[in-house]
Amino acid sequence: MLSIVSTPIGNLGDITLRAIETLKNVDAVICEDTRVTGKLINQLEIPKKELISMHSYTSEEKLEIVLRRLKKGENMAVVCDAGTPSISDPGFKLISNARERRIPMEVIPGPSAFLAALSLSGLPANRFLYLGFPPLKKGRKKFFESLALQEVTVVIYESVHRIQKTLDELAAVLSEQPDRPISIARELTKIHEEVISTQASELNQVAEEITKKGEFVIVVGV
Ligand code: SAM
Repeated sequence: MLSIVSTPIGNLGDITLRAIETLKNVDAVICEDTRVTGKLINQLEIPKKELISMHSYTSEEKLEIVLRRLKKGENMAVVCDAGTPSISDPGFKLISNARERRIPMEVIPGPSAFLAALSLSGLPANRFLYLGFPPLKKGRKKFFESLALQEVTVVIYESVHRIQKTLDELAAVLSEQPDRPISIARELTKIHEEVISTQASELNQVAEEITKKGEFVIVVGV
């Protein structure tokens, strides 16, 4: 059985009872960074586990070994460093291969930054589009142009390194829609959790002034 387990995006208290139980019972945990997951397991007072690191660039051989072990009946959990596997994080390749081979799977849902930001934003969330990280180079211009054309709430991720650039590019592409409401969530569930509710016409100023620390989710309303 492969259990897909969400883990906290900042606050350890957000781990679910099922997640703890699953991590306790599996034979091995497939993760991104073994140090990050090792620390989580330690904090949860779970005895040491076999940790297998897996990324999008992991070799086919390593993936094959894991899939064979699962097929033979071993129980494994897949986690990412924070949040839900496969959501702008590794997991997809393993999960799609496991599904192809009819390996039994279950999901232990939990935190994801886009959902937390969306519900906290106060922007309409009955219909929304999750676009993940803007591309770094190729396709970046098109990404923002298409975002501006959307008629539903759009959610994107950004890191501290590019938050200012991304907010400035968003301001440029929304220059003819100055009233579009924007919510910027920073450091969700952590000590410095902050939400800035603003609008497109204010974005350049927000980009200048926003605290350039931590992790960000940008929610663009209609
Ligand atoms: N799999 C994760 C999820 O389910 O949300 C996303 C991982 S992605 C590599 C990391 C990005 O998620 C960050 O750059 C940021 O945009 C967003 N993120 C993760 N944790 C966050 C937090 N505590 N506050 C705000 N944004 C966060």
